[in-house]
Amino acid sequence: MSKADPARWGFSTRTIHSDRLGAIEHGAIHKPLHTSVQYGFTHVEQLIQVFQGAPGFNYARQSTPTVAALEAIINVMESGLGTLCFATGMSAITAIFTTLLQAGDHVIASRFVFGNTSSILGTLQGLGIQVSVVDATSAEAVEAALTPQTRMVFVETIANPRTQIADLEGIGALCRDKGLVYVVDNTVTSPWAFQPKCVGASLVVNSLTKSIGGHGNALGGSITDTGLFDWSGYPNIFPAYRKGDAKTWGLAQLKRKGLRDMGAALSSEAAHHLAVGAETLALRMQAASANAQALAEMLAAHPKVRTVYYPGLPQHPQYARAKALFRSPGWLLALELKDDADCLPFIDRLSLPIIATGLGDTRTLIIPVAHTIFWEIGPQARAESGIADSLIRLSVGIEDRQDILDDFLQALGK
Ligand SMILES: *Cc1c(COP(=O)(O)O)cnc(C)c1O
Repeated sequence: MSKADPARWGFSTRTIHSDRLGAIEHGAIHKPLHTSVQYGFTHVEQLIQVFQGAPGFNYARQSTPTVAALEAIINVMESGLGTLCFATGMSAITAIFTTLLQAGDHVIASRFVFGNTSSILGTLQGLGIQVSVVDATSAEAVEAALTPQTRMVFVETIANPRTQIADLEGIGALCRDKGLVYVVDNTVTSPWAFQPKCVGASLVVNSLTKSIGGHGNALGGSITDTGLFDWSGYPNIFPAYRKGDAKTWGLAQLKRKGLRDMGAALSSEAAHHLAVGAETLALRMQAASANAQALAEMLAAHPKVRTVYYPGLPQHPQYARAKALFRSPGWLLALELKDDADCLPFIDRLSLPIIATGLGDTRTLIIPVAHTIFWEIGPQARAESGIADSLIRLSVGIEDRQDILDDFLQALGK
């Protein structure tokens, strides 16, 4: 019998068997949990080589074998050149901004991004980096914001909570044209539903805390370099990292400056949880997406519901874009009731969803947006982001579909 060819395997096969493609100790079927902070060598020359950039481990703030195994899984999922893991999605995003931008640079970001990403964009402005936020559902809005100092464009695939979908292809073409670093936060779609490399992304961010880990039991983040960006012409790469193939310079700087200086290292324990979760990403995405679609259709047809925001509904402004780009419209759904005053009582009448923040879990999670995750930014910024006071966000889980539908029907009332 001939050996299987991993390059021809499908998404789940490659993910589940990825550990076996590397050296795995004692025939263990999971990459073992390496808790050592330091790594010793038998010859001093080996230690020197690792310090000078050869593959290997020396100190856990940069990587451990368990973290490296997770990096390999994410990298396979995103078809990347290389992947780095971080303690959280936010530290991965912060590493990109603080490592690759300098005072005087300009970054264009989608107006519709994760709240904490907006927060770090504000911090950057205090450090002398110019930021423009635009409606990234159109590439023209991004183009209109370009300046000679623009270095980077940052967007999300499906924006949380209103589910706007960036003009991923159009912005990709623009960034390629202008030589800009194109960063796509793929958290809400996950690499199962979408590979940002297909639209020309330079760097892909995933919050592993969400769908990839999937069980709400570990924090983590990742940056994948797709290999599409030519770092040789990028002015902010330090001389120390301008070595070898220019394709690797960005990752070298993100690892040395971003991970080592910031110190937001992923622990081996968290990496192990996330790697086990990743094995079922495709199954969970399919189940959660089918549940979200059924719930969105039921809610959209209900007389007590004013609006449902879900990219799987034909009335969604970017329905065609979602259908063309994503394997499924996912688990993120938002709604407004006709009776705004019923927003909080309605949430309390539901018994199945957990009233909690968080996304991409096996459990359905529900949260009133304006009162919680978008509270700190105030009413004006909420209005600019299209967040109504009565907006409710749902991260639909993988429970039995009828149980979810029945609970929403009872909470809406006859
Ligand atoms: C949650 C989230 C993040 C941040 O990830 P953490 O792991 O919570 O730090 C970034 N982007 C998006 C789109 C998210 O949903």
